[in-house]
Amino acid sequence: MGLKMKKAKFQGQEIKISDFKESMRGNLHCIYCNTPITYVAGHIRKMGDRDIHVNPYFRLVDEKGNPHKSGCEYITSNAVKRIFADISDKGLATFFNNKYITRLHIVTENPEKEKKGTLSKGNGSSSLEKSEKKYIKNNEQPAYLHTIKKIVKLKEALDDDKELRDLVVLQFYNEYKQRYDTIKWKDFYADYNLKQYEHIYRLIERKKAFHPICFSGDIKEVKELENRGIYIIKFYSIKQKEGEYLSLSINTKSKDVFDYASKLIGKKVIVYGCNHFIGKINEPEKNNRKTTYRNFTTQINVKAQIFVLE
Ligand SMILES: [Zn+2]
Repeated sequence: MGLKMKKAKFQGQEIKISDFKESMRGNLHCIYCNTPITYVAGHIRKMGDRDIHVNPYFRLVDEKGNPHKSGCEYITSNAVKRIFADISDKGLATFFNNKYITRLHIVTENPEKEKKGTLSKGNGSSSLEKSEKKYIKNNEQPAYLHTIKKIVKLKEALDDDKELRDLVVLQFYNEYKQRYDTIKWKDFYADYNLKQYEHIYRLIERKKAFHPICFSGDIKEVKELENRGIYIIKFYSIKQKEGEYLSLSINTKSKDVFDYASKLIGKKVIVYGCNHFIGKINEPEKNNRKTTYRNFTTQINVKAQIFVLE
């Protein structure tokens, strides 16, 4: 439970995960607070047409009876506190009732244009204000995505993220109701597994996903749609059952994003997608056997919306 550790102390020396030997078991301690920790071996998870390597890590021997000592950097709440200590913008995050309220924003390539678009349709300055609650300004974009990446990185480093989900409350501005809605973590974050991908797929299908969504997965291929100025980044599909797959594509109009993603083929990434929709169901046949691909899509506009964690 808690944060996965990549280092340990053995007989007073700091060791890396790759230095671990079975003979060290029972003699490993947290490098910061000296609490006993143990080794968890890596393994492979089969995910349809892709094997996922889960890296080995160190964890506490007894989370409840012998947790990290207060102040240790491996305590989840301390890690969360460090992330939010850097944020001064109240529009982005506030601390309330012992929770970090984080506002989610849509990232566009050109927020100024988006705002004008809203203005001409709406009724003057109030719609400008409204859209600012939903869209992040150009100059704030890098800092915003950097913060989201840190939260995502922390989530990925936890072998149980319950504490993080309790501490960090996600909100997204609802223009129709003119208030912030709370977004559940499971509606915001799709780990690369069938249960969560199916949940998000259904959410988009029922038109209940207007907020940004993070998708974790391995990049399979990157291609350009001919003559349309649209680029597609494809994750490895997830097997639902024999002959049926869920298949996520990430669309972008940015050549910059395309070039960046081209260098990341085969790598695990997390994308911060805005604007999602269900695509066509493809049913190609091969040797009289039909395979069903349920396609869905999210969109990104800048390369900082792709988080590479390793
Ligand atoms: Zn510790």
